[in-house]
Amino acid sequence: MLNKLSDTIYYLANQEDRERPTLGLICGDQYSLIIDSGNSTQHAKDFLQEIKKLNVPPVRYVVITHAHWDHFLGMNEFDATVIVNSQTYKMINEWKRYSFDDISLQQYVKSNQMSTMCMKTIQTDMPNRDSFKLNSPDVIFENTLSIDLGNKVCILEKIKSTHTDDSTIIYIPDEKVIFLGDCAYGTTTNSLFHYKQSMLLPMIKDIQKFDAEMFLLGHESICDSNEMNIYWEELTSASRVVKSTSLEKAIELFKVENNRDPNDNELFFIKAFVNDHIIQSQ
Ligand SMILES: [Zn+2]
Repeated sequence: MLNKLSDTIYYLANQEDRERPTLGLICGDQYSLIIDSGNSTQHAKDFLQEIKKLNVPPVRYVVITHAHWDHFLGMNEFDATVIVNSQTYKMINEWKRYSFDDISLQQYVKSNQMSTMCMKTIQTDMPNRDSFKLNSPDVIFENTLSIDLGNKVCILEKIKSTHTDDSTIIYIPDEKVIFLGDCAYGTTTNSLFHYKQSMLLPMIKDIQKFDAEMFLLGHESICDSNEMNIYWEELTSASRVVKSTSLEKAIELFKVENNRDPNDNELFFIKAFVNDHIIQSQ
């Protein structure tokens, strides 16, 4: 079932046991726009079936928030214009060369081009895929793009991110809603989970430029301003104390600066920023 955020904004909640991120639906008077196309043809089909139950204008656009497989592999199911930033375009184009039969999938996993989870999802939720080829996105933008769906403007913007270098956010000004994709998360490099520390403050600045009250995240669904501010505060206070690859020093400094121990979230973030230093030093 779709969650209704307002008369014109809906979302299909993330489902972590199936690696399914949050998908969005924005409806104008004339057209509808989709945010992320799902992790598989089945995810996309499930979403489309839910949309059919609503009496909304036809889906004209699909925006992909970034080039991680769980956000775009359902792309071919939509009879719509697929929009990405130029960096996402380059990365998705790599996937256009892929074959999706079992032997090819196993080879990609072996050579670290694909995660095991991705292969398993494809095997379960993409039947009849022996001749499957991923479509190409249709519209490529550089930094920002506005779309009017009929009395409903959506602003797409490529922003800095601690998660990827190709993050697009979607802001709906008249509803004060913003879809963040995965941009506010960390990422895993060489088996180490880290937040790109140099991107944290520029990212927060890029996001806070928009006057939003509701925040949709790729793997959390929805946060209000209060929850988002706590998240930023915990991330920045963790980042401030990490200046090297030493976890001990960072925790010590946190105690000095805050007169208390870090809470579980802050400790998690401190470790992730320490990992970022480790990766940078490699
Ligand atoms: Zn991602």
